[in-house]
Amino acid sequence: MKTINVQTGIPYNIHIEKGIIDKCGQYVRELTKAERVTIITDSNVAVHYKWRVLNSLEQEGFKVKSHIFQAGEESKNLNTISEMYNTLADFGMTRKDVIVALGGGVTGDMAGFAAASYLRGIDFIQIPTSLLAQVDSSVGGKTGVDIPQGKNLVGAFHQPRVVLIDPDTLQTLPDLYVRDGMAEVIKYGCIKDADFFAKLENENAIEHIEEIIETCVSIKRDVVSRDERESGERMLLNFGHTLGHSIEKLYNYTGISHGMAVAVGMVLIARAGEKEGITEKGTSDRIVNLCMKYGLPVTDDASFEDMANAARSDKKTAGKSINLVLLNKIGDSFTKKIPLENLLDFITTD
Ligand code: MG
Repeated sequence: MKTINVQTGIPYNIHIEKGIIDKCGQYVRELTKAERVTIITDSNVAVHYKWRVLNSLEQEGFKVKSHIFQAGEESKNLNTISEMYNTLADFGMTRKDVIVALGGGVTGDMAGFAAASYLRGIDFIQIPTSLLAQVDSSVGGKTGVDIPQGKNLVGAFHQPRVVLIDPDTLQTLPDLYVRDGMAEVIKYGCIKDADFFAKLENENAIEHIEEIIETCVSIKRDVVSRDERESGERMLLNFGHTLGHSIEKLYNYTGISHGMAVAVGMVLIARAGEKEGITEKGTSDRIVNLCMKYGLPVTDDASFEDMANAARSDKKTAGKSINLVLLNKIGDSFTKKIPLENLLDFITTD
């Protein structure tokens, strides 16, 4: 087992081990005084793993209830959260009880938000089952839900008590979802670790997935511990995400996945950086080749105008400028604030 300790307000561990899902009850027992545990999961993940989590918790003597919502990004709304509150209250969950977030990013975000807000905050543990959630969203304590005006506009910072990553769960994922997570994996190499990037180029990541997850989680841990509330360094994790989000938005969050949009976003911003004389020449070609190796798109037919407009209308864009994450070279990143009116010029390349 590999263990990574996260030193946030309340420190916690991230354990990576095949089969760890069957021991989740022991972790809840060790870390909390809970009597009751509510498993929150979606209809896809429930079929594969709910019974294993349930079994482990019942073996430890917990009273367990599960709450299953319809899988899919469309479920990420306040109605689904409201239904979660009903289950928690009807089951008699108190402040010492625990929520288990079992699933991908949508589940982690929403179950985490329910935990952050129910009774002004109760404990939760994360069992992320998609590569994207394992290397990214389950670490860092961001929870949230979409509202009609935008994605993740409502949420809270709420750290889990423990994160249990079982790499075996990736075997039940459709190939598309593994690729989706690979975009974030490549991102970590781009922003922080040239050797890791080279390793992804030279080896087949899928064969060393446990190590890959460990490296990504360690990088994210380091960044998040230094900047828990996203005021500085944490912004680097948004590499490829400004234009990625624009593309997702242009497609109304259907037709392109988050990872795919981020892959295109990384290529475009690296190319813009090269054009501006900021990024080392050849960087974008290396990102293109690596994304293609892992089955990710590197181009899109959305126009630069549409992408810039979508970025400008982003609810999270503060004021008259936008923070772009740029690379000096692979493994070396920084943020640059540019006026919004210069964005189109900046990103346009031929
Ligand atoms: Mg992301």
